[in-house]
Amino acid sequence: MAVSSLKIKTILETLRDRYPVVKTQLEHETPFQLLIATILSAQCTDNQVNKVSKTLFHAYPDSNALAHAPLSQIKKIIYSTGFYNNKAKNIKACAMALIREYEGVVPKDMNKLVKLPGVGRKTANVVLSAAFGQDTIVVDTHVLRISNRLGLTDKKDPVKVEFELMEIIPRRYWSYLSLQLIYFGRDICDAKKPRCLECPLLKICPSGKKSR
Ligand code: SF4
Repeated sequence: MAVSSLKIKTILETLRDRYPVVKTQLEHETPFQLLIATILSAQCTDNQVNKVSKTLFHAYPDSNALAHAPLSQIKKIIYSTGFYNNKAKNIKACAMALIREYEGVVPKDMNKLVKLPGVGRKTANVVLSAAFGQDTIVVDTHVLRISNRLGLTDKKDPVKVEFELMEIIPRRYWSYLSLQLIYFGRDICDAKKPRCLECPLLKICPSGKKSR
């Protein structure tokens, strides 16, 4: 959909002023740990993942250790992140695939990443951006919601939104914008109760509520 360059410039500048320094909230020391933490973050807060991943990575810090970990033990550790049966199977299978196909090393390639168990485009984009410094747009629930509210897209499918945003946002802003929108979603443009009257983008937002 057509979006004016002035509107895009306003959004990018406003978010940059508000959040000049942004980074993923998922704690990790290696690309592998970020990959596993991101898989665990589905339907779960980053804070909760961080509590669990501390124990998980202490016991199983790399792909080799996690690939050989008993499934029952992994389930016990990650239980509180929800969907723990599937997540435990996926992270163990992912570690095994890394050993089998990439000598235990996380590939820096979207096509290879999305073939790993439990890894979709969103997870792959998080890893490519935060662990390898590539320009990517991560469309999580905040980015999806706020892009629609601001009129940057009218699509509801995260992959379609990712490609639409890549068309209209200059590449050098991709990774920052995703993180800034995530901060902004937690801070101002809440899913249930957006704080429009305090919002610096109210003037250009078609969904903004100008009164209580
Ligand atoms: Fe979100 Fe309201 Fe701001 Fe629009 S004006 S971006 S809906 S908080």
